[in-house]
Amino acid sequence: MNNIIFIGPPGSGKGTQSQFISHKLSIPHLSIGDMLRKIVEDGGDYSKQLMHFMQKGQLVPSELINILIKNTLLDAKYSNGCLFDGYPRSVDQAIFLDKIINESIVFYFDLSISLITERILGRFSCLNCGKIYNNYYNVPKKNNVCDDCSSQHFSYRQDDNKDTVIKRIFEYESQTKPLIEYYRAKKDFFTIDASKSKEEVSNMLLEVLKTI
Ligand code: AMP
Repeated sequence: MNNIIFIGPPGSGKGTQSQFISHKLSIPHLSIGDMLRKIVEDGGDYSKQLMHFMQKGQLVPSELINILIKNTLLDAKYSNGCLFDGYPRSVDQAIFLDKIINESIVFYFDLSISLITERILGRFSCLNCGKIYNNYYNVPKKNNVCDDCSSQHFSYRQDDNKDTVIKRIFEYESQTKPLIEYYRAKKDFFTIDASKSKEEVSNMLLEVLKTI
């Protein structure tokens, strides 16, 4: 199996599990959210337009995202497949992706709306290596020191605030949820109970992946 796709609401643990699975199975991790944040930070092409959508919690128009993905996939490091985290996020993006990649396996991270809010508002990450933590249930082992790289610098995402969360959940319900039926009908599709602990979710994913 060449490609893995994680879909699910914001805060459902896609990023955390992508980091784990990508490392464990040596599959390149392609996080579209991280890519967009980097473009905005560097002031690259389209950074103002991207910021406009991201700060409001809206999806960036697919024309822009699809071009970005297509260009990114030209990089040789993705030639044997990758783990898509946060893409596709709408049926039109999925149709586009189907045209440019071969087989894929899809995991849907199922999480209730009440848990989404708590997870997003508690989320922070290491500024140095990007490891993701959460104030409610996944803090560094040593206070204020990253477990993986020992950095003492952490950051909260600008769009992880109450107002934006509501909009992001709305976008998810209206644009991304239809993807579930789209993929269920077409692909190897697995639903993961994302309310479980980080370790339990990792084990569920590995269980499925080792059978493929
Ligand atoms: P994420 O880090 O995946 O939560 O994404 C952060 C923000 O980036 C989202 O709220 C959107 O504004 C934008 N974004 C990420 N992925 C996509 C996508 N596939 N399509 C459109 N916008 C996206």
